[in-house]
Amino acid sequence: MDTKDLKFDSKLIHAGMFDDQFGSATVPIYQTSTFRFKNADHGAACFAGESEGYIYTRINNPTIDSLEVLMAELENGYRGIACSSGMGAVNTIYMGLLRQGDHMISTDAVYGPSRIVMEKHYSKFGIESTYVDTTDPANILKAIRPNTRLLFIETPSNPTMGISDLEETVQIARKHGLITVADNTFCSPYLQKPLDFGFDVVFHSLTKFINGHADVVGGIIVSREKGIHDLLRPMMVSLGCNMDPHQAYLVIRGLKTLSLRMERSQENAMKIASFLEEHPRIEWVKYPGLPSHPHYELARSQMRGPGAMISFELKGGHTAGKRLMNQVRLCILAVSLGGVETLIQHPASMTHSKLDRSAREKAGISDGLVRFSVGIEDVDDLIDDLSQALEQV
Ligand SMILES: *Cc1c(COP(=O)(O)O)cnc(C)c1O
Repeated sequence: MDTKDLKFDSKLIHAGMFDDQFGSATVPIYQTSTFRFKNADHGAACFAGESEGYIYTRINNPTIDSLEVLMAELENGYRGIACSSGMGAVNTIYMGLLRQGDHMISTDAVYGPSRIVMEKHYSKFGIESTYVDTTDPANILKAIRPNTRLLFIETPSNPTMGISDLEETVQIARKHGLITVADNTFCSPYLQKPLDFGFDVVFHSLTKFINGHADVVGGIIVSREKGIHDLLRPMMVSLGCNMDPHQAYLVIRGLKTLSLRMERSQENAMKIASFLEEHPRIEWVKYPGLPSHPHYELARSQMRGPGAMISFELKGGHTAGKRLMNQVRLCILAVSLGGVETLIQHPASMTHSKLDRSAREKAGISDGLVRFSVGIEDVDDLIDDLSQALEQV
C-alpha cells in the first residue's frame, strides 16, 4: 500500500514493506551477496539501469531497500542510502559533495570523528574546513569564503547540547549557494526533520536512537531531492561502505518502537535533568527541556520534544568526572547513546580526548562535562544510582 500519507507512527510499522511470494508479514532477510539473472538480456538490462532487478548486495538488496524507503518516508525525503556505519555516511557525504579546493563550515562541537577525519585526512586532498559555534548564525556568515561549498551542522551538538536554528541556517546557505547537511542522530526523525526546513541532506548514525538496542552499528543518508541522491548513491557503492542485509533487518525491527522508546526515555530524561539541576555537586545542566537551557525556546520551536541526551558539568573537573564514572552501578559506563539502556561517559577523557585541549575548550567540552544518554529503565532506579554515585564524587 502507499504509506506516504500515513502518520509517523503508522509509517514506522508499515513503510518500506513489500509483497513477497510467501506473503511475509515482516521484511525477510535476503542474506545473499549476489542475484541470479533470468537470462543474458535481463543481466544486461539490470546493468544498464533499464530493469529494476537486483545485481549485487554492495549495490542493492531488497532488505536494505526496505530500510532505505522506510527512512526516507520518516524524514520526508527522496530516498535513503544505508551505510555500514554513521561514519560510512559521513565519508560518503564528504567524498560525494566536496572537490579539491572546496571549503566546509561545520559545528565546532560536532561528533569528534566527523571533524577528525576531515582535518586529518581530507586536508591532504586540499579540502579546507572551519568549525564555528553554529548556534549563532552570525558565526556561519563570518566563516563563508568564496570556495565554501558545504555547511555541515549537528543539532543538538555533541556533547554540548547547543541548538542551531535550522530555518536560519538554510536561509544563509541558500543565499550563498551552499549545500546543507544535518546530522540528526541525537533526535531521530521522531523529534526533528531537517529536510522539512529545507536542508538538502540529513544523515544518522542508526547505531543510536533509530536502532535503539545497542546491537547494531549502521548509518543512513536521506537526500531531499534526486540530484544529490544520485551523487551520493554511487559514491557509497564505490567506497564499499554498504550495509549488510541482516544489519538492515535488525534496524527495521528496532525502528518499529522508535516513538514508544523516545517518549519514555524523554520522560525519564526530563525528571533526571530536573534532579541534577538541584544537586549541590553539579555546576550546571544542559538539557533542551529545561527553561535554563540557552536555546530552550528555539528547541521547542523546531523539535517535537527535548530528547533523551543530557550534559552536565560536575564541580571538581576532570577528577570528579572520572570518579563519577567509577561509581555508577546501573548506568552503564560506555560511549554511544540512544539505546534502551542508560549510558554515561566523560567526553574529555573518552569521546573527545583526541581533540587537542584548546579545540575542546573552544567547543565548550570542559573537563567536568558528563554526557548522559537516558534509557527506558524505571526513572527512580536511575535517580537512586546517580544519587549514590554523586555522593561519592
Ligand atoms: C555515533 C555518531 C556518529 C557516527 O556513527 P557510527 O555509527 O558510530 O559510525 C555520528 N554522529 C553522531 C552524532 C553520533 O552520535
